[in-house]
Amino acid sequence: MSLKTKIKEIKSGKLKAIDNVLNFSKKIATPKIKDLNIFLNLNENAIEQAKKVDKRIKEKKSVGKLAGLCFAVKSNISVKGQETNCASEVLQGYVSPYNATVINKLNSEDAIFMGMLNMDEFACGGSGETSFFGPTKNPRNPELIPGGTSSGSAAAMASELCDFTLGSDTGGSIRNPASHCGVTGLKPTYGAVSRYGLIDMTMSFDCIGPLTNSSEDSKIIFDIIKGQDNFDTTTIEEKPVREKKNTIGIIDLRNLCDEKIQELFDEKITTVAKKNNWQLKKISLPLDIALETYYIIVYTEFFSTTRKFDGRRFGKEIMSAAGPEVIRRIIGGSIITKAEFEGKYYKEALKAKNYIKSEFQKIFARVDAILLPTTPKTPHKIGEKISVEDMYAYDIFTTLSSISGIPSISIPMGKVDEKDVGLQILAPHFEEDLIFKLAKKFE
Ligand code: GLN
Repeated sequence: MSLKTKIKEIKSGKLKAIDNVLNFSKKIATPKIKDLNIFLNLNENAIEQAKKVDKRIKEKKSVGKLAGLCFAVKSNISVKGQETNCASEVLQGYVSPYNATVINKLNSEDAIFMGMLNMDEFACGGSGETSFFGPTKNPRNPELIPGGTSSGSAAAMASELCDFTLGSDTGGSIRNPASHCGVTGLKPTYGAVSRYGLIDMTMSFDCIGPLTNSSEDSKIIFDIIKGQDNFDTTTIEEKPVREKKNTIGIIDLRNLCDEKIQELFDEKITTVAKKNNWQLKKISLPLDIALETYYIIVYTEFFSTTRKFDGRRFGKEIMSAAGPEVIRRIIGGSIITKAEFEGKYYKEALKAKNYIKSEFQKIFARVDAILLPTTPKTPHKIGEKISVEDMYAYDIFTTLSSISGIPSISIPMGKVDEKDVGLQILAPHFEEDLIFKLAKKFE
């Protein structure tokens, strides 16, 4: 059921908010779902909150735009009174004393919080396997990784445990699991949604965004959570004005992409382009420098932001309690930022960042949007040994938009070898509405 329909049913009293909560709660409690390891903590007050919503509806009092809808969030988004542990032993037992701005916004629209979701530790990883609490399994095929780092957020949607979830995306962490789990995930424009209350991974890239069943649902949630926020000075609101040309950019991915994914992608875009009279134009993106630029900035900023986890104020000392991927980044970041290098690696990466931004600007003068697959390969089996380079390579198609701060959505494209794969739509800053419009043509 679409969110629009469900909201109508709840507001008209046809579906009780309490039944919405109970339906999801019962499912969450089944052994089959528990085995997928999606939730880390549940909200014990959800039923009480739903009762209040139902009471207001019955008394014909006004209710919020999302009245009675159930949502859950990645465990790096602060929810007052909830353990916001980033799926790490470092923050195990840390209870957040305040709400992230996105949570306040959802609460004030009467959405009902269901719980905290599993993720890769401190949002570092690409498979959902680095969580201290064990990997999340892919609901479409429990032998496979669900993708990461918003693993629980995508898996909760794929197994229908909520109406929508929130994740965070630094270099692909909403889009990558959305692709592997066959759901829709939006990485908004950097600065469109407040990061206040999000535990940083790499603060110059981090974005909070929704995971949903469709682009229409994604728009509903995005429109609620976006907006300028005095608690996050990077937030802005902008209305884009750009003449559209009905022209879409596509890239020659040469040998960067699995052949079958490429074939499916070509087939999809040709059909949809024909139907909508889109002109497809070949463009090129600097994919060759995407991962190097991304990881130098990530290692540097992650090293800096984790200095506060010294075990004195909250949790455990990070170097003694974190897993190997987190440690790798801290050590890498400490080397890159050594005084004797005088910031030369970081400065080079920032130069590359500006170059990537200017390339996108040039491309968007010629085309309305860009299409490409979300991931270059299908998900591996949980526990399968893959190299660090191969793990990082999952993000080759998602990092460029993160580096330049533009919005991007991943929507289901179909299946390759019975595994879900996603299609990405990229647009200029603040053109999420164009993304939603184009996504609809594929759904
Ligand atoms: N896989 C990427 C990384 O490990 C993306 C992570 C993210 O977006 N949080 O950095």
